[in-house]
Amino acid sequence: MTEIKKRFQHIDHEIRQAEQQAKRATHSVQLLAVSKTWPAERLREVAELGQQRFGENYLQEALEKITALADLNLEWHFIGPIQSNKTRDIANHFDWVHTIDREKIARRLNEQRPTSLEKLNVCIQLNIDDEASKSGIPIADLMPLAEKIEQMENLHLRGIMIIPAPTENTEQQTTTFRLAQDLFKKLQAIYPQIDTLSMGMTNDMSAAINAGSTMVRIGTALFGSRNVKSQ
Ligand SMILES: *Cc1c(COP(=O)(O)O)cnc(C)c1O
Repeated sequence: MTEIKKRFQHIDHEIRQAEQQAKRATHSVQLLAVSKTWPAERLREVAELGQQRFGENYLQEALEKITALADLNLEWHFIGPIQSNKTRDIANHFDWVHTIDREKIARRLNEQRPTSLEKLNVCIQLNIDDEASKSGIPIADLMPLAEKIEQMENLHLRGIMIIPAPTENTEQQTTTFRLAQDLFKKLQAIYPQIDTLSMGMTNDMSAAINAGSTMVRIGTALFGSRNVKSQ
């Protein structure tokens, strides 16, 4: 068995186990394979194991992989910070965007999304820890932004995404995740089509699933460490 297949199976097992421990339905949590810095051939190997959803942070790099893997039926998620001059390519080539953090970006994506494609699925990125340096909107801005996105006809509002401040403290991780879950439920009560709580990465996946994550974004545990690029 290849190294990557072992890792893939291990992650799948861990997700199913975390679902069970949290008394959640099997397969209520989806895996987003975060493939930034890895070459297209690596993604192809993972796709051949049955993985369809891939997350990319850097536009240029992502566009090359999207082209190289066009023969596969993959679902592409943009998860990096978005500058205004990047929205057109994102609107043309991606299926999902997790990092909507201002109305202007949403408006541009809506205008630039080709009507020949399905609506662009979007999540609002929340600045859950209120860190000055981080991207994402303040909690107070969530409902007003959601209301605006709801009216954009080429966007499909799917939920919330968070990147908490890194910590090894499980209790702190859980507090943050619970807050996100609470906001997610509030949003869902107003907009019933909301179904995505994008949270949890390699180091905090189980805590995120325990607090209701529906999509974990996993890079390192699947592809290996990004700064050691030997295969
Ligand atoms: C890189 C990245 C991930 C994956 O992180 P790992 O710790 O490697 O699993 C998840 N989400 C975002 C937004 C990222 O930039």
